[in-house]
Amino acid sequence: MIETKIKQVVRDVADFPKPGIVFKDITPILKNPELCAEITAALVIQLQGIQIDVVAGIESRGFLFGMLLAQALKVPFVPIRKAGKLPAKTIQQAYDIEYGSAVIELHEDAISQGQKVLIHDDLLATGGTVAAASQLVEKLQAEVVGCSFIIELEFLAGRERLKGYNLETFALASY
Ligand code: AMP
Repeated sequence: MIETKIKQVVRDVADFPKPGIVFKDITPILKNPELCAEITAALVIQLQGIQIDVVAGIESRGFLFGMLLAQALKVPFVPIRKAGKLPAKTIQQAYDIEYGSAVIELHEDAISQGQKVLIHDDLLATGGTVAAASQLVEKLQAEVVGCSFIIELEFLAGRERLKGYNLETFALASY
């Protein structure tokens, strides 16, 4: 089962990036090309039946499987990045993080009006990042059809929060 395989490989790093956080490190997955292919295939199966025109991946770990997923679906991939990283004209969305606020950006010509967008990130925690990404996509009058993750931290209730944004949520491994 893919969930078991993911859990066998993902590495817990205690107290990173700050005390009390258990960081789920997906880099060991990347060293295993067969598992990467299996994960990509499992993401595709989970999303079967949903029309997706574009995959938007969130910096930076959302780029890894976001790009593989877009390739498998044969649709474009677009990066959502932290402020100041994208070179051409961008739109912005601010959101609250634990201490203060952050800004994410998208090239304004990355997605066209009416396109159906899947947002991808490596991990769903509180859901704040994906909620902001969804608002960003909607600024371009595109439609977010769902969000997909490799890992979901269920105890942080991100899925509940995303229901408020009417966001269908998919994850391969839950803790
Ligand atoms: P959130 O906005 O709370 O859902 O946080 C999600 C973002 O923070 C994602 O981009 C994750 O990669 C990262 N993140 C949050 N918590 C963790 C964790 N425990 N392990 C790894 N990444 C995390």
